[in-house]
Amino acid sequence: MADSNFIDYVKILCRSGKGGAGSRHFHRAKYVPKGGPDGGDGGRGGHIILRGNRNMWTLLHLRYQRHIFATDGQSGGAGRSFGKDGEDRIIEVPIGTTVFDAETGEFLCEVTRDAEEVKLLRGGKGGLGNWHFATSTNRAPRYAQPGQPAIEKAVVLELKLLGDVGLVGFPNAGKSTLLSALSAAKPKIADYPFTTMEPQLGIVSYRGDKSFVMADIPGIIEGASEGKGLGLRFLRHIERNAVLLFMVPADSDDIRHDYEVLLNEVREFNPELADKSRVLAISKSDMLDDELREELAKELPEGVPTVFISAVTGQGLTELKDLLWREINSEENVAATTITHRPLDRRHRVDEEDDFIFAQDDEEEEDWMPQTDEEWNDEFWDEEDSVNGDD
Ligand code: GDP
Ligand code: MG
Repeated sequence: MADSNFIDYVKILCRSGKGGAGSRHFHRAKYVPKGGPDGGDGGRGGHIILRGNRNMWTLLHLRYQRHIFATDGQSGGAGRSFGKDGEDRIIEVPIGTTVFDAETGEFLCEVTRDAEEVKLLRGGKGGLGNWHFATSTNRAPRYAQPGQPAIEKAVVLELKLLGDVGLVGFPNAGKSTLLSALSAAKPKIADYPFTTMEPQLGIVSYRGDKSFVMADIPGIIEGASEGKGLGLRFLRHIERNAVLLFMVPADSDDIRHDYEVLLNEVREFNPELADKSRVLAISKSDMLDDELREELAKELPEGVPTVFISAVTGQGLTELKDLLWREINSEENVAATTITHRPLDRRHRVDEEDDFIFAQDDEEEEDWMPQTDEEWNDEFWDEEDSVNGDD
């Protein structure tokens, strides 16, 4: 229903390029009676690479991307000429994007830093040309290596990290209005419940050169943690927000009670969430006169920094930003938002060659070629494209 518009995960069929075949060419020159093997190496197939981009906040741009294929390496040629490498395909993703195998559900990799490149699928290596195989006993090898095959995998990209600050409040608390007031985001605003059907993100600029992300997550209603209402699907997006900003409007009958109910919802959904830093904003404070305000101040919940704000008049917003910034950058928070590195399993070991992490099977490497005459047989001959020599 309501969540169909929000793209927090996409499924894409990815394929790296296969390696180009080595050439079996023999040198032919008019006055050279017996030319030697001079078939060049095939080019490497293109990789599929993910790259972190801190200016992206959703996977929306990949919404219609059904597949992403890198191109194949080209075959080697005469005169030991190398085949061209295939072109890599780079998928730009927001930081915090996690990749799973779509079939097995297995975790493959995660992009955690801006400009970080993670090779998802390795392009096949190019095959060696026949000149590599010339020996004293076999001066004219008639074989060359085929290129390594491409790797194809359906993957699911998922984004959980939505912001540094997640808004938590009942519908109509003023979340969308606050986000509009603080950022360039333009969330939908109306004065009835369930206005916000998909999370809205805003970049809040802070004291000139700093900024943080604020995410307005659709209303937590009582029972949301049990899957009622707009519930679960949205709630899980606040899991990794660094700070939760609770909002209770000034005209609430019982601010402390409302806060407790919200906190309880959050806790029931995921107890770890309750450990996050919290800030409480009493919204719509423009409706209060000094007297009322003083009275309310006596009834505030304890143990949570609280600020009276109005998105309409701007009252308290600077103080709120100061508070949020302080919490976002508190030591515990910086530590807590560091992404956990899971132990590498067989599918994503570190490649010695270039230190990239490949999310693929070890077996692929083992398909590599025999090196002696005896090990060779016709099965290794790759149709016509490994055979561009003269024999
Ligand atoms: P949300 O459901 O939490 O996103 O709440 P909205 O931002 O959509 O606001 C709900 C209603 O409260 C709207 O009619 C807003 O105009 C009103 N509202 C929001 N912030 C303020 C405020 O600071 N002062 C006043 N007086 N009204 C506000
Ligand atoms: Mg809203």
